[in-house]
Amino acid sequence: MGAISIHNVVKRYGSGPKANQVIHGVNAEIADGEFIVIVGPSGCGKSTLLRMVAGLEEISGGEIAIAGRVVNDIEPSERDIAMVFQNYALYPHMTVFENMAYGLKIAKVPVDEIKRRVDKAAGILQLGPFLARKPRQLSGGQRQRVAMGRAIVRQPQVFLFDEPLSNLDAKLRAQTRLEIQKLHAELGVTSLFVTHDQVEAMTLAQRMIVMNAGRMEQIGTPEEVYARPATTFVAGFIGSPPMNLVKGLADSSRFTVDGQTLPLPAAAPRSGELIIGLRPEHAALRPAGGLGWPFRVEMTEMLGAERLVHGLIGSTLFTVRIDATLIAPRVGETLTLQGPPEHLHWFDAATQQRIA
Ligand code: ADP
Repeated sequence: MGAISIHNVVKRYGSGPKANQVIHGVNAEIADGEFIVIVGPSGCGKSTLLRMVAGLEEISGGEIAIAGRVVNDIEPSERDIAMVFQNYALYPHMTVFENMAYGLKIAKVPVDEIKRRVDKAAGILQLGPFLARKPRQLSGGQRQRVAMGRAIVRQPQVFLFDEPLSNLDAKLRAQTRLEIQKLHAELGVTSLFVTHDQVEAMTLAQRMIVMNAGRMEQIGTPEEVYARPATTFVAGFIGSPPMNLVKGLADSSRFTVDGQTLPLPAAAPRSGELIIGLRPEHAALRPAGGLGWPFRVEMTEMLGAERLVHGLIGSTLFTVRIDATLIAPRVGETLTLQGPPEHLHWFDAATQQRIA
């Protein structure tokens, strides 16, 4: 059915010596019915990758197959996909029903079949009461649902979403995210969803592809990516606030940071220049003097249930998340930072790759 195979895919804009390569050999096997989120910072190539699957961009190298059929040279309209964009681009003079029906009408689907499919999609998206309205009589969230409805009625093998929630305010975004999850549970259609928002990626993905500068840094479930980031990039991108990363020279159970030799709670995986990672929620602050690392408080942030304490380890900024009911540390005071050995992450300073 709707499995997607992405094999050594490369994208260059332009040609010859002036060509600008923006995708550098991406590989991914996506199972039929999976919900995959492609996440990464602006400009990393997410949309380009999605648009190559859609057929809106030519593939410069490698192969993309949908449902076992290589689609490199197949027209978008023949790929059995439906795409939902950030700007919903509804026809302003058509009703909700007509907007959803339009593609089917063009494809000469019989009238009663069109009505059946639109009614079904409207039911799923709770758009039933609005079918006779024009887009300007709808809220932003309702318009985005119409755009999704237009994709659903086509009954494609694959849904492609290109930052569809970016135009919605935070509350509506969270709500629409839940609706997309429900929709996927109900229809089970293979979905590729592009976003720059790591929270959106974590909440929606069955598996996520983390991209950076045209390369796939990691593919895995949100739990795997969070618990075992493959690179320092992923460690610093997923999680809010992100994982703390401190570079130093490791030698058995000592770690030298900016000339200061610090104890390690467990032996380093090897000696040499390494990066140690610790998430803000896994670090603890104790009164000065105990076993641990000196942590100089620079600033605190009250977030409601919790408080972020930003401080310095040598010259590296380090953030600790503490319960807001605890007394806030004073700016300028030096505390002791502790990290349990099971929560330490190690990376090679040269390659930035995780050390197993
Ligand atoms: P993202 O979706 O992750 O923000 P894009 O896929 O839009 O990133 O872009 C990836 C890179 O490709 C960017 O550096 C962008 O400038 C470049 N790019 C995108 N479209 C074109 C184009 N039509 N011509 C040349 N370069 C492009």
